[in-house]
Amino acid sequence: MKIDDFIRDIPDFPNPGIIFKDITPLLANHNALVSCADQLAALSPKGVNIDKVIGVESRGFIIGGMIAERLGAGFVPVRKKGKLPYKVKSKNYSLEYGEDTLEIHIDAIQPGEHVLIHDDVLATGGTAKAVCDLVVELGGVVVQCNFIMKLDFLNGKDKLNVPISSLLTY
Ligand code: IMP
Repeated sequence: MKIDDFIRDIPDFPNPGIIFKDITPLLANHNALVSCADQLAALSPKGVNIDKVIGVESRGFIIGGMIAERLGAGFVPVRKKGKLPYKVKSKNYSLEYGEDTLEIHIDAIQPGEHVLIHDDVLATGGTAKAVCDLVVELGGVVVQCNFIMKLDFLNGKDKLNVPISSLLTY
């Protein structure tokens, strides 16, 4: 199944000059959705037992949960500031314009656990780097960051010192 047939470009969203990659057609098509999760799960590192899959708010929750199910792992949400109910560890990170904060529950990852991080898009890498830092601060080991797509012209991989996988590259 060709996943890129189900991703559409939205010009000037959310700001002028940005071409937003919209995955909602992929989510809406059962076969494409299942195939995407199957393919991403198949790209997970071989010979490593994944304890937790992290999904990054909000689009990372959907397929992240499906990957966790396929790998026999638990699912952990990383959310924007103020959304998680229990004690959190927080990390500020840079956006193209300004800053934002991501949070994880302090007991979501146990020391030594193997963690796979999933998000829909790798752009500048600031988001994924912040999530990697949170995992390491909780004592976890990031074994892979995987994405439906990476936008190579933004060089996000340069910020990450963990293995990266994606189904599509633009
Ligand atoms: P980064 O921190 O610059 O790598 O941006 C990645 C974050 O922004 C991810 O959580 C993505 O969901 C979101 N993002 C950036 N560009 C796009 C896009 O074109 N489509 C969908 N999400 C995007």
